[in-house]
Amino acid sequence: MRRKLAAGNWKMNGVTASLAEVDALIAAHPTPRSEVLLCPPATLVGQMAARAAGRIAVGGQDCHMKAAGAHTGDIAAAMLKDAGASHVILGHSERRADHAETNAMVRAKAAAAREADLVAVICVGETEAERDAGATLEVIGRQLYDSTPDGATGANTVIAYEPVWAIGTGRTPTLEQIAEVHDFMRSELAGRFGAAEAGKIRLLYGGSVKPSNAKEIFATSNVDGALVGGASLKAADFGAILAAL
Ligand code: PGA
Repeated sequence: MRRKLAAGNWKMNGVTASLAEVDALIAAHPTPRSEVLLCPPATLVGQMAARAAGRIAVGGQDCHMKAAGAHTGDIAAAMLKDAGASHVILGHSERRADHAETNAMVRAKAAAAREADLVAVICVGETEAERDAGATLEVIGRQLYDSTPDGATGANTVIAYEPVWAIGTGRTPTLEQIAEVHDFMRSELAGRFGAAEAGKIRLLYGGSVKPSNAKEIFATSNVDGALVGGASLKAADFGAILAAL
Protein backbone atom coordinates (compact mmCIF):
# COMPACT_ATOMS: atom_id res chain seq x y z
CA MET A 1 0.00 0.00 0.00
CA ARG A 2 1.06 3.55 -0.64
CA ARG A 3 1.79 5.50 2.52
CA LYS A 4 -0.07 8.81 2.50
CA LEU A 5 2.04 11.93 2.19
CA ALA A 6 1.20 15.37 3.55
CA ALA A 7 3.49 17.86 1.87
CA GLY A 8 3.66 21.56 2.63
CA ASN A 9 4.98 24.19 0.24
CA TRP A 10 5.91 27.40 2.04
CA LYS A 11 6.65 29.13 -1.30
CA MET A 12 8.40 32.51 -0.72
CA ASN A 13 7.33 32.69 2.91
CA GLY A 14 9.19 32.18 6.13
CA VAL A 15 12.16 33.43 8.12
CA THR A 16 14.00 31.88 11.04
CA ALA A 17 11.22 32.78 13.48
CA SER A 18 8.74 30.80 11.35
CA LEU A 19 10.49 27.58 12.37
CA ALA A 20 8.53 27.77 15.62
CA GLU A 21 5.65 26.40 13.52
CA VAL A 22 7.71 23.28 12.83
CA ASP A 23 8.33 22.76 16.54
CA ALA A 24 4.62 23.21 17.20
CA LEU A 25 3.66 20.78 14.43
CA ILE A 26 6.01 18.09 15.70
CA ALA A 27 4.89 18.61 19.29
CA ALA A 28 1.23 18.29 18.33
CA HIS A 29 1.75 15.31 16.00
CA PRO A 30 4.69 13.30 17.32
CA THR A 31 3.72 10.10 15.50
CA PRO A 32 1.65 10.96 12.42
CA ARG A 33 0.16 8.07 10.44
CA SER A 34 1.25 9.68 7.21
CA GLU A 35 4.63 10.81 5.96
CA VAL A 36 5.08 14.55 6.51
CA LEU A 37 7.16 16.81 4.29
CA LEU A 38 7.73 20.56 4.52
CA CYS A 39 9.37 22.53 1.73
CA PRO A 40 10.53 25.93 3.01
CA PRO A 41 12.47 28.52 1.00
CA ALA A 42 16.04 27.38 0.32
CA THR A 43 17.35 29.74 3.01
CA LEU A 44 15.58 27.66 5.67
CA VAL A 45 16.18 24.11 4.42
CA GLY A 46 19.27 23.51 6.56
CA GLN A 47 17.84 25.03 9.71
CA MET A 48 14.50 23.27 9.30
CA ALA A 49 16.18 19.92 8.71
CA ALA A 50 18.34 20.39 11.80
CA ARG A 51 15.32 21.35 13.85
CA ALA A 52 13.16 18.50 12.54
CA ALA A 53 15.92 15.95 13.17
CA GLY A 54 14.26 13.39 10.93
CA ARG A 55 10.83 13.64 12.57
CA ILE A 56 9.49 15.24 9.41
CA ALA A 57 11.07 15.31 5.96
CA VAL A 58 12.34 18.57 4.47
CA GLY A 59 12.46 19.49 0.80
CA GLY A 60 13.47 22.23 -1.60
CA GLN A 61 11.11 24.02 -4.00
CA ASP A 62 13.33 23.82 -7.08
CA CYS A 63 16.78 22.71 -8.16
CA HIS A 64 18.99 23.27 -11.17
CA MET A 65 19.30 20.57 -13.83
CA LYS A 66 23.10 20.72 -13.67
CA ALA A 67 25.13 19.29 -10.81
CA ALA A 68 27.31 22.39 -10.30
CA GLY A 69 28.84 25.29 -12.16
CA ALA A 70 28.44 28.89 -13.28
CA HIS A 71 24.72 29.42 -12.58
CA THR A 72 24.42 32.44 -10.33
CA GLY A 73 21.48 32.28 -7.98
CA ASP A 74 20.68 28.65 -8.67
CA ILE A 75 20.88 25.69 -6.34
CA ALA A 76 21.96 22.17 -7.26
CA ALA A 77 20.10 19.10 -6.04
CA ALA A 78 23.20 17.88 -4.20
CA MET A 79 23.29 21.17 -2.26
CA LEU A 80 19.74 20.63 -1.05
CA LYS A 81 20.67 17.09 -0.10
CA ASP A 82 23.72 18.36 1.75
CA ALA A 83 21.54 20.84 3.65
CA GLY A 84 19.33 18.02 4.86
CA ALA A 85 16.62 17.81 2.20
CA SER A 86 15.21 14.49 1.04
CA HIS A 87 12.73 15.84 -1.53
CA VAL A 88 12.41 18.67 -4.03
CA ILE A 89 9.27 20.14 -5.61
CA LEU A 90 9.74 20.53 -9.36
CA GLY A 91 7.66 22.16 -12.07
CA HIS A 92 5.27 23.98 -9.77
CA SER A 93 2.97 26.13 -11.90
CA GLU A 94 4.39 29.27 -10.30
CA ARG A 95 7.85 28.29 -11.55
CA ARG A 96 6.46 27.34 -14.93
CA ALA A 97 4.83 30.79 -15.11
CA ASP A 98 7.44 32.98 -13.37
CA HIS A 99 10.56 31.28 -14.75
CA ALA A 100 9.29 29.87 -18.05
CA GLU A 101 10.03 26.32 -16.97
CA THR A 102 9.13 23.80 -19.63
CA ASN A 103 8.29 20.13 -19.29
CA ALA A 104 11.72 19.29 -20.69
CA MET A 105 13.40 21.41 -18.02
CA VAL A 106 11.32 19.79 -15.29
CA ARG A 107 12.26 16.35 -16.59
CA ALA A 108 15.96 17.26 -16.57
CA LYS A 109 15.66 18.66 -13.05
CA ALA A 110 13.92 15.48 -11.89
CA ALA A 111 16.76 13.43 -13.33
CA ALA A 112 19.26 15.68 -11.51
CA ALA A 113 17.29 15.26 -8.29
CA ARG A 114 17.49 11.49 -8.63
CA GLU A 115 21.28 11.68 -9.19
CA ALA A 116 21.49 13.50 -5.85
CA ASP A 117 19.21 10.97 -4.16
CA LEU A 118 16.32 13.41 -3.74
CA VAL A 119 12.69 12.41 -4.30
CA ALA A 120 11.20 14.57 -7.07
CA VAL A 121 7.71 15.94 -6.39
CA ILE A 122 6.69 16.72 -9.97
CA CYS A 123 3.76 19.13 -10.38
CA VAL A 124 1.26 19.16 -13.23
CA GLY A 125 -1.99 21.03 -13.68
CA GLU A 126 -4.29 22.60 -16.21
CA THR A 127 -5.26 26.27 -16.43
CA GLU A 128 -8.87 27.30 -16.19
CA ALA A 129 -8.99 28.01 -19.93
CA GLU A 130 -7.69 24.51 -20.65
CA ARG A 131 -10.33 22.96 -18.40
CA ASP A 132 -13.08 25.08 -19.97
CA ALA A 133 -11.90 23.93 -23.39
CA GLY A 134 -12.26 20.28 -22.33
CA ALA A 135 -8.52 19.76 -22.67
CA THR A 136 -7.70 18.80 -19.06
CA LEU A 137 -6.71 15.17 -19.59
CA GLU A 138 -4.80 15.95 -22.75
CA VAL A 139 -2.82 18.69 -20.95
CA ILE A 140 -2.19 16.53 -17.87
CA GLY A 141 -1.16 13.56 -20.01
CA ARG A 142 1.37 15.64 -21.91
CA GLN A 143 2.81 17.36 -18.83
CA LEU A 144 3.01 14.06 -16.95
CA TYR A 145 4.78 12.26 -19.78
CA ASP A 146 7.14 15.07 -20.71
CA SER A 147 8.02 16.14 -17.15
CA THR A 148 8.68 12.67 -15.71
CA PRO A 149 12.03 11.07 -16.52
CA ASP A 150 12.41 7.46 -17.57
CA GLY A 151 13.00 5.15 -14.66
CA ALA A 152 10.56 6.87 -12.31
CA THR A 153 9.64 4.67 -9.35
CA GLY A 154 7.56 4.94 -6.22
CA ALA A 155 10.80 5.55 -4.32
CA ASN A 156 12.16 8.42 -6.41
CA THR A 157 9.01 10.16 -7.69
CA VAL A 158 5.82 11.73 -6.37
CA ILE A 159 3.33 13.41 -8.70
CA ALA A 160 1.23 16.37 -7.59
CA TYR A 161 -1.91 17.31 -9.52
CA GLU A 162 -2.44 21.02 -8.98
CA PRO A 163 -5.01 22.74 -11.16
CA VAL A 164 -3.59 26.22 -11.71
CA TRP A 165 -6.99 27.82 -11.10
CA ALA A 166 -7.30 26.13 -7.69
CA ILE A 167 -3.98 27.36 -6.29
CA GLY A 168 -4.41 30.04 -3.67
CA THR A 169 -7.94 30.79 -4.84
CA GLY A 170 -10.05 28.89 -2.33
CA ARG A 171 -11.64 27.06 -5.28
CA THR A 172 -11.26 23.32 -5.70
CA PRO A 173 -12.38 20.89 -8.38
CA THR A 174 -15.25 18.58 -7.53
CA LEU A 175 -14.25 15.23 -6.05
CA GLU A 176 -15.33 13.64 -9.36
CA GLN A 177 -12.98 15.92 -11.26
CA ILE A 178 -10.10 15.10 -8.91
CA ALA A 179 -10.81 11.37 -9.22
CA GLU A 180 -10.98 11.60 -13.00
CA VAL A 181 -7.52 13.17 -13.22
CA HIS A 182 -5.94 10.93 -10.58
CA ASP A 183 -7.34 7.74 -12.12
CA PHE A 184 -6.10 8.94 -15.49
CA MET A 185 -2.60 9.69 -14.15
CA ARG A 186 -2.41 6.25 -12.51
CA SER A 187 -3.29 4.54 -15.77
CA GLU A 188 -0.90 6.71 -17.79
CA LEU A 189 1.93 5.85 -15.38
CA ALA A 190 0.98 2.17 -15.56
CA GLY A 191 1.19 2.30 -19.35
CA ARG A 192 4.69 3.68 -19.15
CA PHE A 193 6.23 2.13 -16.06
CA GLY A 194 4.10 -0.99 -15.57
CA ALA A 195 1.15 -1.40 -13.22
CA ALA A 196 3.23 -2.66 -10.30
CA GLU A 197 5.63 0.32 -10.21
CA ALA A 198 2.92 2.84 -11.10
CA GLY A 199 0.96 1.49 -8.15
CA LYS A 200 3.75 2.63 -5.85
CA ILE A 201 3.97 6.24 -7.07
CA ARG A 202 2.14 8.60 -4.74
CA LEU A 203 -0.30 11.00 -6.43
CA LEU A 204 -0.96 14.16 -4.40
CA TYR A 205 -3.73 16.64 -4.93
CA GLY A 206 -2.86 20.34 -4.44
CA GLY A 207 -4.79 23.57 -4.69
CA SER A 208 -6.71 25.18 -1.80
CA VAL A 209 -6.48 22.15 0.47
CA LYS A 210 -7.52 23.18 3.97
CA PRO A 211 -8.66 21.47 7.18
CA SER A 212 -12.32 21.64 6.13
CA ASN A 213 -11.91 19.84 2.77
CA ALA A 214 -8.93 17.58 3.44
CA LYS A 215 -10.84 14.51 4.60
CA GLU A 216 -13.08 14.21 1.55
CA ILE A 217 -10.21 14.90 -0.83
CA PHE A 218 -8.07 12.23 0.85
CA ALA A 219 -10.89 9.73 0.49
CA THR A 220 -11.01 10.31 -3.27
CA SER A 221 -9.86 7.63 -5.71
CA ASN A 222 -6.09 7.49 -6.22
CA VAL A 223 -5.39 10.47 -3.95
CA ASP A 224 -2.39 9.58 -1.80
CA GLY A 225 -2.04 12.87 0.03
CA ALA A 226 -1.80 16.57 -0.57
CA LEU A 227 0.56 19.34 -1.54
CA VAL A 228 -0.54 22.24 0.62
CA GLY A 229 0.46 25.87 0.14
CA GLY A 230 -1.16 28.52 2.32
CA ALA A 231 -2.50 26.09 4.92
CA SER A 232 0.98 24.62 5.50
CA LEU A 233 2.33 27.83 7.04
CA LYS A 234 0.57 27.44 10.37
CA ALA A 235 1.05 24.34 12.50
CA ALA A 236 -2.60 24.35 13.54
CA ASP A 237 -3.90 24.23 9.95
CA PHE A 238 -1.32 21.81 8.61
CA GLY A 239 -1.72 19.65 11.69
CA ALA A 240 -5.47 19.45 11.10
CA ILE A 241 -4.80 18.38 7.50
CA LEU A 242 -2.36 15.70 8.71
CA ALA A 243 -4.94 14.45 11.14
CA ALA A 244 -7.39 14.00 8.25
CA LEU A 245 -5.06 11.65 6.37
P1 PGA B 1 -2.52 26.53 -1.96
O1 PGA B 1 -1.23 26.20 -2.84
O2 PGA B 1 -2.71 25.36 -1.01
O3 PGA B 1 -2.18 27.81 -1.24
O4 PGA B 1 -3.67 26.67 -2.90
C1 PGA B 1 -0.96 24.89 -3.26
C2 PGA B 1 0.34 24.85 -4.00
O5 PGA B 1 0.61 25.75 -4.81
O6 PGA B 1 1.14 23.91 -3.82
